Amino acid sequence: MSDVVHETPSYQPLIWSNWARTASCSPAGRAAPGSEAELADVVARSAAAGRSVRAAGGGHSFTPAATTSGVLLSLDRLDALERVEPLPGTGNALVTVGAGIRLHQLNRLLAGRGLALENLGDIDRQSIAGAISTGTHGTGAGFGGLAAQVRGLRVVGTDGAVHDVGPGDPLFEASRLGLGTTGIIAAVTLEAVPAYDLLAEERPAPLAEVLESLDGPDGVVATSDHFEFYFFPATGRALTLRNTRVAPGAPGRLERAGRAARSFLDEEVLSNGAFEALNQVATAFGSLTPRLNAVSARALSPRTYQAPSHQVFCTRRRVRFREMEYAIPRELAGEVVAEVDAWLRRSGENVPFPVEVRFTAPDDVWLSTAYRRETAYVAVHQYWRLPYSRYFEAAERIFVTAGGRPHWGKLHTRDADDLAPLYPRFDDAARVRLEHDPEGVLMNRYTRKVLG
Ligand SMILES: Cc1cc2nc3c(=O)[nH]c(=O)nc-3n(C[C@H](O)[C@H](O)[C@H](O)COP(=O)(O)OP(=O)(O)OC[C@H]3O[C@@H](n4cnc5c(N)ncnc54)[C@H](O)[C@@H]3O)c2cc1C
Repeated sequence: MSDVVHETPSYQPLIWSNWARTASCSPAGRAAPGSEAELADVVARSAAAGRSVRAAGGGHSFTPAATTSGVLLSLDRLDALERVEPLPGTGNALVTVGAGIRLHQLNRLLAGRGLALENLGDIDRQSIAGAISTGTHGTGAGFGGLAAQVRGLRVVGTDGAVHDVGPGDPLFEASRLGLGTTGIIAAVTLEAVPAYDLLAEERPAPLAEVLESLDGPDGVVATSDHFEFYFFPATGRALTLRNTRVAPGAPGRLERAGRAARSFLDEEVLSNGAFEALNQVATAFGSLTPRLNAVSARALSPRTYQAPSHQVFCTRRRVRFREMEYAIPRELAGEVVAEVDAWLRRSGENVPFPVEVRFTAPDDVWLSTAYRRETAYVAVHQYWRLPYSRYFEAAERIFVTAGGRPHWGKLHTRDADDLAPLYPRFDDAARVRLEHDPEGVLMNRYTRKVLG
């Protein structure tokens, strides 16, 4: 075996665990290849030795998506910008990067070239390969998730062969969101767009009013570039975030404006020390949570600011939490949110974290939670030291009844039998998997459960 694979001595297990501390493993070996050739060598040798092979990115999945008892790969050293190829007449460019690059690195590299990703999620700590492999998304009724922005992949098969694939190729379609089950992704080509700023407008509003305003051609979802909202359980108060795409302004504006130019909810609530302290009080004295939520909800205040897109989309999450998120048909968003809120009120569950609601365009990525469906994402969160099972089970019942598809990287209890009917291309993805990995070298317990 290549010397980049470190055998784990039995007396000192090398424990890998995820950010949320909901998944961990003791892999028999670990490797951090520094080149594509080295990666291909490790994969082929591990497979030939009968070991399973998984890659971990930033460990930001809540599910045990990356775990293995075999060989765990880190692609952190494969993080280079390989190529920028302008697409004539569009201002867009095809950008090829090493699969291990973190989104924050990628965003900075793109900004330096006058480019940006078309849409992003809430944070930028993930690797690009990890983010696309679970269907990471942001918000915006006219925009897809990260996997929908992928135009090419280089995928290392279990025999060490490198497949350079693009749209139309079944291996591409199954790999751009495939939980690492069709091969290890070595490089990703994305279609980047010209850099843009976001004009961010945040407004507190009664939850009922927000739910009323969502739908129809004149609704806030359809008339905003990027709309989302949060609400604190049983407070009846929401914070809406509406981001409008505008031409880039003066560079460095965000840095000069400092904290005032950041999302209020993200910077002043979700990521600060006071929110951590508040969650600790809620953990010790659950009966105080309704009052604490009222404090958090009252703290929400209007704010408008403008900054480069990635600085508005992505913020830090310093207070650790657990999350379940389902993609539901967009037209059911109001109903589903009202049901979750009603359950929270009825049960009196101790939940000091807000519920988040986002919207994306339909896409054609085989295993995408937004496959061919206008989508709303409803996410329930719980502070990591508090129990989440009862809350998430109740929310999941509501989501499943609405025909929801669970985020592949967030907590849920569905299995392949439940999921297959929700994805018209589920069997096609299974065929590609079987063709490229008949021995199941690239599978783990989680992928067997959810993909069969
Ligand atoms: C604080 C926080 C905020 C989040 N915000 C959002 C959000 O706004 N929107 C959203 O949709 N999700 C969000 N997520 C979920 C997160 O984006 C996904 O779980 C994502 O997959 C994490 O990427 P990662 O690099 O950490 O991958 P990991 O969790 O390490 O791995 C994810 C999957 O990708 C596979 N993988 C990794 N690298 C490769 C490779 N090179 N080749 C093949 N397979 C590979 C792994 O085996 C695994 O199956 C958030 C998570 C956290 C903890």
